[in-house]
Amino acid sequence: MPDRASPNSFSRAIHWFRRDLRLTDNTSLREAQARADEVIPLYILSDWTQDHLWTGEKRQKFLCECLSSLSANFAHLGAALIIRQGEAVSELLKLVEESGAEAIFLNEDVDPFGQAIEAKLKQKSPVPVFSHQDAALHGVSEVLKGDGTPYRVYTPFSKRWLPLKKAKAEGSPKSFKSPTNIPSLPLPSLATWGLESSSCETLPGGEKAARARLKEALSNRISDYDGTRDIPSLPGTSRLSQDLRWGTLSVRELYQKAQHCGSEQYLKELAWREFYFQILHHFPDVLELEFNADWRGLPWDEPAEQFEAWKSGQTGFPIIDAGIRELLQSGFMHNRVRMIVAMFLTKDLHLDWRLGEQFFAQHLLDGEIASNNGGWQWSAGTGADAAPYFRIQNPWAQTKRFDPQGIYIKRWVPELAEIDPKLFLAPPPEGQALAKGYPSPIVDHGDERKRTLAIFKKHRENKGA
Ligand SMILES: Cc1cc2nc3c(=O)[nH]c(=O)nc-3n(C[C@H](O)[C@H](O)[C@H](O)COP(=O)(O)OP(=O)(O)OC[C@H]3O[C@@H](n4cnc5c(N)ncnc54)[C@H](O)[C@@H]3O)c2cc1C
Repeated sequence: MPDRASPNSFSRAIHWFRRDLRLTDNTSLREAQARADEVIPLYILSDWTQDHLWTGEKRQKFLCECLSSLSANFAHLGAALIIRQGEAVSELLKLVEESGAEAIFLNEDVDPFGQAIEAKLKQKSPVPVFSHQDAALHGVSEVLKGDGTPYRVYTPFSKRWLPLKKAKAEGSPKSFKSPTNIPSLPLPSLATWGLESSSCETLPGGEKAARARLKEALSNRISDYDGTRDIPSLPGTSRLSQDLRWGTLSVRELYQKAQHCGSEQYLKELAWREFYFQILHHFPDVLELEFNADWRGLPWDEPAEQFEAWKSGQTGFPIIDAGIRELLQSGFMHNRVRMIVAMFLTKDLHLDWRLGEQFFAQHLLDGEIASNNGGWQWSAGTGADAAPYFRIQNPWAQTKRFDPQGIYIKRWVPELAEIDPKLFLAPPPEGQALAKGYPSPIVDHGDERKRTLAIFKKHRENKGA
């Protein structure tokens, strides 16, 4: 119970859910409960339409499931999740007026769009707004170089990040007091955004499903991580990225439990996530521009048929097509394959990484502005601590290393199910396809590699001139 004599306690407050769709170890929700007699749990649906960059069908389906699970968890505590829709600040101000709430609590966003909304809310709100760092183990300005400037390179960042003391995870509320007379919209469905359901195989959304995945990850995926994480046909990674993105899992709880699995490599992956959070925060220009100024203004080709072939998994390169089809059908793509697919778009098709970034954003359940931008700029060779431009992955050689039996390829490209996997390791004779109904390769990797090297070299020379 809050101390009512304190000027910092309230009879009624709002907790605004955004990317923290859970009850367990939710920093702002806990604070709201500690400081107010009654808390209104609120989610505001966007009124974006179906063609908005961040309103892909698979992603919104996952969000609907997360909200339905959250609502059920509140119902279990005798409380109701309130759903509203529209421009967030106006909706919040309306609810403050209607409900007499005396404060707003929220967990900070990690991207500049969410942060701009928080700033506007703080400026316009007639009641105090309390924001908390929750999405990361360390805030974006907590891990800085000795001279107080942000890191631009991952390894020194991770060396500093890893030994820092991490906050402990807390449990879930055992009870929840909220007013009973606040009107709410029904839980959303895909129709809310004018979207139609397809037959995709997405993971189920919500805190319960996330906890089941956590249990599985802790039972073997994370302990075997170092040996299996690069093999896309194996369940060798944690598959928790969408839960970290939507906050159906607390990163503190994950870190605390994963520490006992014996893979420092796994903990370092969580540091990549926070490395990109801080890059986006300190260098927000990366959303528009290449992080490495040397590569700004590179001459990309105009997207045409080859881009369509890439987007539909019809390039004639089995590993690329398997990756894209995994994404289209499941809203996920294995990390190793994300790198191969992204490098193919930028280095074999010479297309702008921003096109790939947008496409991923529309289809990934874990689509995260910072990591997606970081991953794309890494693959294009333009980003913070990126792959150097001359290290161009060969899709055939990558297949030999990471899917030599073609198990991953056959799973996602059914036309190739009966084909000898040795044929996935080198291009077929010119003009020939690997199977009926499957295209022949749309480019020659060797030729395109040379072209990329020439483009980057010339660009650097022109800049130096
Ligand atoms: C082009 C490209 C785009 C990407 N876009 C995204 C994105 O939108 N959202 C996203 O969460 N990740 C993105 N990644 C990073 C990575 O591919 C995914 O985090 C990973 O595949 C998720 O699967 P997992 O949960 O099984 O990961 P695990 O291997 O189990 O890793 C554990 C966690 O660490 C984090 N992580 C791991 N690798 C990275 C990385 N390279 N960068 C940032 N965080 C990482 C994730 O939160 C992940 O859940 C991208 C990578 C590339 C190359």
